[in-house]
Amino acid sequence: MEAIVLVSYGGQGVVLLPGGERRRCKFRRNVGRPYCGDRVLVNRADDESLVVDTIIPRRNFFVRADERQRQHTIAANLDQVLIVIAAKPLPSRDLVERYLLAVHSLGIEPVIVLNKTDLEVANNETAAGAEVLSHMPEYEDLGYTVIRTSCKTEPGIAGLAEILKNRTSILVGQSGVGKSSLINQLLPDMQIQTGALSTSTGKGTHTTTSTIMYELTGGGYLIDSPGVWEYGIWTLDREELTAGFIEFAPYIGQCRFNNCVHATEPNCAIKQAAAEGRIRNWRYQSYLRLLKQNG
Ligand code: GDP
Ligand code: ZN
Repeated sequence: MEAIVLVSYGGQGVVLLPGGERRRCKFRRNVGRPYCGDRVLVNRADDESLVVDTIIPRRNFFVRADERQRQHTIAANLDQVLIVIAAKPLPSRDLVERYLLAVHSLGIEPVIVLNKTDLEVANNETAAGAEVLSHMPEYEDLGYTVIRTSCKTEPGIAGLAEILKNRTSILVGQSGVGKSSLINQLLPDMQIQTGALSTSTGKGTHTTTSTIMYELTGGGYLIDSPGVWEYGIWTLDREELTAGFIEFAPYIGQCRFNNCVHATEPNCAIKQAAAEGRIRNWRYQSYLRLLKQNG
């Protein structure tokens, strides 16, 4: 029988059965460790409890990095990563690029969520952060989806709810941008779902720190992983960096040097495109800063 992993504690977790029932399930070491979002085949063990027999091959992994830059998988099979930003706290200069690059490198689709649209950017705030918000129409021109939300007034969260339908999503972003507020509105029955998970595992306290997949009433799943990517992400290699600037693609391979990093080299197709406005200069400048930092 096929099931979906809602939460994983290493040796066991909770799966969602086709009929909608949540059941505690054991994981066998030789099968590998299932993650939140995994599609698995489950069977009854001798004592009638459920056990995972097979993990169905994953489409992708969602990872976080620890302080030592080691990557840890915390979920699988995502359709989209929602990058939440707001006028308060304002994003730092290259935050959106960092997030977009990371999502791109995982092979998952990014969506930018501009929350707190009811707030104005305060006059005394940093110019760089305000500039990030002013770039939203340009991200849309680049092909990214930008959803505007407010947890307090219009436009509310309808646009966001729409894009979550029948897909598996996760929210990332700095502390304070409104992730919990969005989740509370998107999942009015969150407490009930959490309660069902604690009853199935007998591990009530774990649900506040674990990565959990919730069912959306309109269809689809929302993964809540407290604190994920709040303190940044991992270092990207050069290839990931260039590939993540999606508008560079037509110029790749056209520089004079085939090992061009598109910084100070002569006859660089990307530098030239930026100088002529075919690539947005602020994106190119962000690329150069990230190139330096990722050295
Ligand atoms: P998280 O740290 O990303 O989970 O952010 P929270 O959901 O805890 O929200 C941080 C603060 O921002 C709280 O005081 C919320 O009430 C407030 N907040 C969340 N969404 C909005 C919004 O759309 N507009 C305004 N004005 N405040 C919001
Ligand atoms: Zn180049």
